[in-house]
Amino acid sequence: MAKKKWGQNFLIHQKVAEIIVDAADVQNEDSILEIGPGHGMLTRSLLKRNAQVTAVEVDPELCDKLRKQFENVEGFTLLEQDVMELAPEALAKLVSAHAKVVANLPYNIVTPLLLRILPVRKTWQSLTLMIQLEVARRICATPESGKSYGPLSLVGALGFQSKIIKTIRPDSFRPAPKVDSSVIRLVPRNSGLTHEEEKLFLKWSHLLFQQRRKTLLNGIRSHFPEWYQNCEDLLSEKFALRRPESLAFTEWLNLFEDYLQNEKMNPAKALRNNNKKIIN
Ligand code: SAM
Repeated sequence: MAKKKWGQNFLIHQKVAEIIVDAADVQNEDSILEIGPGHGMLTRSLLKRNAQVTAVEVDPELCDKLRKQFENVEGFTLLEQDVMELAPEALAKLVSAHAKVVANLPYNIVTPLLLRILPVRKTWQSLTLMIQLEVARRICATPESGKSYGPLSLVGALGFQSKIIKTIRPDSFRPAPKVDSSVIRLVPRNSGLTHEEEKLFLKWSHLLFQQRRKTLLNGIRSHFPEWYQNCEDLLSEKFALRRPESLAFTEWLNLFEDYLQNEKMNPAKALRNNNKKIIN
């Protein structure tokens, strides 16, 4: 029986697994990290392409089945482990450098997993994932995308070049989820910020994005009064009545540079010590 707590919506058509493997451009001898192999539908497609698969599965019953299913297959390694309990650095070391991540992810861990792996993302060549369509849209969104554009879009833009490859209907899974899914491909990119700055950028932009329909200046005034006081004229001149939801990623980055500049001159305490969750 599928276990809800582990987001078990299993693929029922091998051809959907093939779509994911094609999107990942899996080649002979590629090193692959698969998260949540389940009953092994996607794993089979990966092994058929002669890939070296390291799979991480949390459910002990499924692990037993997987061990039996693939015991004589070369190139398959199973780790019985909750992926969310692995330190990102340990996760990055499970497979050789430039490996590809391929997964039909349990939907409840998509956002927390993306945030966790952000600092080690460049270990991997690409991540090809099946996730909810709505979340995929949020990751890829720009100001022109309307409501989908938000803090998760900034995580996406900061860390990856992302593309939705294909929408997959609920009847491709058992049990069928309530919403459409999609195959998304993420290629890690360099943001130009250090890891520490990236962490700070996400907290900072999340605060300013909270009131997406109010003007950015209002948000700056309430969350960062010292910065506002120091730079009111410049900020008003640059951003006048702009709202957070209208700022493209590069504009967010430029504004962050201004914020960091001001922080260097007038070290503020609030944000660096704030341990609030970044994105819900
Ligand atoms: N790959 C299979 C498929 O495509 O049919 C299963 C996909 S199912 C959506 C998600 C899989 O991830 C399940 O096998 C589930 O047990 C596993 N899983 C859920 N949470 C996990 C976690 N924290 N760490 C490792 N595996 C997890």
